[in-house]
Amino acid sequence: MSNRLLGRVDARWNAPGGLAPPGRLFQQLWLIIVIVLACTLLPLTAQAATPEFTIHQYFSPGAGAVNTYWIETANEIIVIDGQRTLSEAQAALVSIKATQKPITAIFLTHPHPDHFTGLRVFADYAPEAPIYGSPITLKTIETDANGLVALSRETLGDEFPNQVAVPTELIEEGDILTIAGIEFQIHQLAPNEAAVMTMLYLPETRTLFSGDLVNNSKTPFLLTQHTTAWVAQLESLSSRFPDADLIYPGHGEPGSKDVLIRDQLEYLALFRQLVRDRLADDRQISTDEKAQIVEHMNTWYADYLPVAAIPALLEQNIDAIAAELTSES
Ligand SMILES: [Zn+2]
Repeated sequence: MSNRLLGRVDARWNAPGGLAPPGRLFQQLWLIIVIVLACTLLPLTAQAATPEFTIHQYFSPGAGAVNTYWIETANEIIVIDGQRTLSEAQAALVSIKATQKPITAIFLTHPHPDHFTGLRVFADYAPEAPIYGSPITLKTIETDANGLVALSRETLGDEFPNQVAVPTELIEEGDILTIAGIEFQIHQLAPNEAAVMTMLYLPETRTLFSGDLVNNSKTPFLLTQHTTAWVAQLESLSSRFPDADLIYPGHGEPGSKDVLIRDQLEYLALFRQLVRDRLADDRQISTDEKAQIVEHMNTWYADYLPVAAIPALLEQNIDAIAAELTSES
């Protein structure tokens, strides 16, 4: 039917004489106006379809400062990571409550207590909100595979919940969620700073929530002994997110993707090289050698605070890297 109709229209447009009658000219003019208007308005329509939102950040300053982010849309709040202690989570929640908007989703990037301890506060405030996390994150917390739940319960006392809030909705590499009109692309890499890292990419704003895969100007936690895999993941991170502009890290201020990835890589590469050089002679790190590495790092990274208030984190990191490199050789 439509083909026949088109054929008829074509025949009329190709009427003998070469010039269209005045009625045709009027139609052509309208057609051009409609096309121009469509071209002008389509981008506006597409833009209007992208929801407007604001990203907020909470952290308690000093050693061990860790970020909780919340994304505020017109009617909803989406939380990313939950703070190291219950009282710090409560402090973040005060600002969220002030918006008078409900928390409709919570993300947990990885199974470390500085990110999951305070989730209890958000889960109790918004029991209907799903907590998204990876299967490895859930399993690591439930089995306390790294011993961090028991350690945190012991050291934090009343600041640690009776029952840890864990992921209620499992997400996998390649998943795409749409929450409050925002697209969240799920990326998961393992192992690295933790047993697994769930990252969230928001293509509409070219924004990457990197968890602790990339932190900004912090002494890292290397005790998982997976820096070889971590470095490889960092080296391909830019090509994994070619359109990303900004990284919102687990620790430190948001910043340029290229700068933050470069800095994180340089730190890990230098640290590994310092340890490797001193292992080369006798496969041991002496007390003096350890002191040299600590001095070197404290000189080069004088303004870096640790991601966790762990005693002698640099010394422990040296032991961890020595063990990792030795096991690989
Ligand atoms: Zn962390």
